[in-house]
Amino acid sequence: MDWQDNPQQAQFRTEVAKFIQTRLPDRYRSGDENSDATTGTTGWQADRKSNDASARESAINWADALAERGWIAPHWPKEYGGAGLSVMEQFIYNQEMAKADAPPVGGMGVSLLGPTMIVHGSEEQKTEHLPKILSGEVAWAQGYSEPSSGSDLASLQTRAVRDGDDFMINGQKIWTSGAHQAQWMFGLFRTDPEAPKHRGITYLLLSMQAPGITVRPLQQITDARSFNEVFFEDVRVPAKNVIGEVDRGWYVGATHLDFERSSIGSAIDISNTLDDLREFLIDEEAAGSGRSRIGREPVVRSALAERYVEAETAKLFSYRVISMQNRGGIPNYEASVQKVFTSELKQRIGNTAVKALGLYGQLFDPDGALTPMRSKWVQSYLAAVSETIGAGTSEVQRNVIATRGLGLPRG
Ligand SMILES: Cc1cc2nc3c(=O)[nH]c(=O)nc-3n(C[C@H](O)[C@H](O)[C@H](O)COP(=O)(O)OP(=O)(O)OC[C@H]3O[C@@H](n4cnc5c(N)ncnc54)[C@H](O)[C@@H]3O)c2cc1C
Repeated sequence: MDWQDNPQQAQFRTEVAKFIQTRLPDRYRSGDENSDATTGTTGWQADRKSNDASARESAINWADALAERGWIAPHWPKEYGGAGLSVMEQFIYNQEMAKADAPPVGGMGVSLLGPTMIVHGSEEQKTEHLPKILSGEVAWAQGYSEPSSGSDLASLQTRAVRDGDDFMINGQKIWTSGAHQAQWMFGLFRTDPEAPKHRGITYLLLSMQAPGITVRPLQQITDARSFNEVFFEDVRVPAKNVIGEVDRGWYVGATHLDFERSSIGSAIDISNTLDDLREFLIDEEAAGSGRSRIGREPVVRSALAERYVEAETAKLFSYRVISMQNRGGIPNYEASVQKVFTSELKQRIGNTAVKALGLYGQLFDPDGALTPMRSKWVQSYLAAVSETIGAGTSEVQRNVIATRGLGLPRG
């Protein structure tokens, strides 16, 4: 297997690296998360809404620099403000951005809604919403999961009933990330309860300011409140906000999967954070502060080495997925293998890190005098619990691997 770039790929890589070197604001070069722990917003998104003028300016400058090249949405076609990058170009772009720890811009509007709207939306919908997604002016939330419909999403029950020019919505969504800060939601709603469950679902856009919507933030194990319950009581949504056809929303919602590309960013992130941890532990060991156990405990050193090996394996799984996509294939169980491995690895890394930091690893106050790395690792240890749940649980992914990958019969 040849891991090297061809000449065109090498040229594009240099172009992206040079762009980052010259245009990434200083604020994002420090590697600090600059997150807002209570709302669970991180990096660029927190800065975009910050009260601190210099943070806001950094966020806007970075978005403007990316927008000049269509790199806010590199996977969107050029005519809609994206860059129309090929699969390999997206891979290289994501790799270089992740290496530099450069923050992504735009959130779910860019990654999920935009591609769906480009394929299924009307010209009026595209003109109204796509520019505001790209500018970061409007934040979107994804209203899919319900209290009894997560893995089995097609069983969702929140009703949208046609009433004149509107749909009237009643029911509840849950685990809705960012709904407390979003101005708009894209979601799936039951429009025909008599139809088989994958039919009778409609993909709708709704303003979070519409009367009858109540958003209740949920407190997480990390103390952040980044996802929510969202209640709908006689909420009116204009019928012109349907994306695609009524009752065909299930198929509309699946579209973004065709646009989603390599998750190499996540694998590189893992390596970067391991490097930060290793450097911290070595420095603390040299200083004799007691906040590192790597000198005293061979088992901790060995665990750290194992995590490094696994981080490289995670990258190879990403390469496998991207090379399939590059050949025009659609990854299936291969993407599940990657998801299970990477999400479980993040949990093992959190575990290894808090052990390597000893009792100090449990200190929660980021500003505490003795807290290592601004409590990054205890936070990661706790937050990583959700990795094997969100975007498809490990059990469900293992079912995919068993049936589609290994050809085992359905249980
Ligand atoms: C951090 C985070 C952010 C999220 N953000 C959003 C969001 O913005 N919008 C949104 O709509 N949703 C969001 N979700 C919800 C997420 O999509 C669901 O949590 C996920 O689909 C699992 O559904 P559930 O929680 O209802 O669990 P369930 O589906 O009820 O599963 C419960 C348990 O049963 C197991 N299980 C279920 N079915 C099977 C099966 N067939 N075989 C074997 N085991 C099975 C599961 O693995 C799990 O262990 C988020 C979740 C997390 C953790």
